[in-house]
Amino acid sequence: MENGVLYVVATPIGNRGDITERAKEVLNAVSLIAAEDTRHSRPLLKSLGISTRLVAMHEHNEREMLEKLTRMLQQGDTLALISDAGTPLISDPGFPLVRTCHQLGIRVSPLPGPSAAIAALSAAGLPTDRFRFEGFSARTSSARKGVFETLKDEPLTLIFYESSHRIQASLADMAALFGEGRQCVLARELTKLHETIIQCTLGELCRLLENDPDQRKGEFVILIAGATQDDELLSPEALRILKLLVDELPVKKAAALTARITGEKKNRLYQQALILRGE
Ligand code: SAM
Repeated sequence: MENGVLYVVATPIGNRGDITERAKEVLNAVSLIAAEDTRHSRPLLKSLGISTRLVAMHEHNEREMLEKLTRMLQQGDTLALISDAGTPLISDPGFPLVRTCHQLGIRVSPLPGPSAAIAALSAAGLPTDRFRFEGFSARTSSARKGVFETLKDEPLTLIFYESSHRIQASLADMAALFGEGRQCVLARELTKLHETIIQCTLGELCRLLENDPDQRKGEFVILIAGATQDDELLSPEALRILKLLVDELPVKKAAALTARITGEKKNRLYQQALILRGE
């Protein structure tokens, strides 16, 4: 290992088996690990047999720790930065430290690994060629709506982080601004026991969470299909209902009823119904 390097080390987002070999080696070898919350990281390090000294660096003491850590790095110490889970700096502390290291000519090296946004995107079944990461949505409904308003015509897949106490309120605001029929994916408790990935419309997702308190628990990534992708994708549930109705009813009626049940666009359903009929 090189002297005077800051390693930015990703840690698991749930399943401890997701720690990398290189992360273990580096966390073992550095002189000090700066962690978001030492109480949170200690059990992980203990389970890996790593006894490297830990210091806390979180949003409240980040500026003061900056001086201490950069001085150590300039003196040749090698340090690691970790957060509670996933990749540091991604909706987590660390940006001022990494930026200052660059300004001071200190080498910063990433040890890639889990990140909830990328894990969710890789399994969501929404277009991945281009996407837009929005992090946590705003705390108040009016601020959230203001942001969603600016995003409603965005053609890229949108990715949001959300906590359990705001999930329903956020989804309701998303449905109001992006439309009940917009395709979305809820990626919940990834890599953990209750991992769930649900693809449906925003309207369906709001109703699902309303009716099933279990689906409101844990950690979430919400992905929203981009504005233009919306027309290309029907939810599996809408497709299932449409298939049933198209066997029994005229195409127009089947599409209209499915639109009323699912919130999907009538035109898109009509086109799909024609395809199902082979017309
Ligand atoms: N730095 C982390 C990363 O790289 O993913 C994210 C930290 S941020 C403070 C925590 C948020 O990430 C959670 O509120 C949730 O939105 C998302 N998250 C973290 N772990 C998750 C998981 N196992 N399943 C779903 N979302 C998760």
